[in-house]
Amino acid sequence: MPIAVCPGSFDPITLGHLDIIERATYIYDSVVVGIAGSPSKKPLFSLKERLELTGEALKGLKTVKVEPFDRLLVEFAKKNGAGVIIKGLRAISDFEHEFQMAHLNKNLDSSLETVFMMASPEFMFLSSSAVKEIAQYGGNVSDFVPANVEARLRAKYNQR
Ligand code: ADP
Repeated sequence: MPIAVCPGSFDPITLGHLDIIERATYIYDSVVVGIAGSPSKKPLFSLKERLELTGEALKGLKTVKVEPFDRLLVEFAKKNGAGVIIKGLRAISDFEHEFQMAHLNKNLDSSLETVFMMASPEFMFLSSSAVKEIAQYGGNVSDFVPANVEARLRAKYNQR
């Protein structure tokens, strides 16, 4: 199968994101991870930091590239020659929003298909926002994020 895009804010990338991206590489020849600026979400990490952290965390996956995007997802996919959008689906809470986005994107570009991958059970309840909240109060996030992200969270929150 050819090219898939995997979009998100990745603020920061977690082991849940990594799991979806790695599984996508077993199905698609090439996976483009698209990092949205998401200014309205007031990200903790700048787009530049998120590109860096995500790139480092994924450097073992040779068929993955990481790109920023600040346009419609369907345009970003087309620009990268992708026919598929990959989304991870966690517990029921993701469903409504993702269902809506998939239909809107289909309407904008009917040649583009959204494919959902079920979150692995160990990451089902993991989110970037939960990770940030735990890290902010000095909790241990080593089971949830790659080592480079853990170190950067400590630095961000001024912890040893
Ligand atoms: P978040 O929802 O944590 O802020 P993003 O906006 O970066 O994350 O999400 C990008 C994509 O990654 C979405 O499709 C989302 O469902 C998926 N995703 C996020 N966390 C997980 C996880 N723990 N397991 C599987 N998929 C996930």
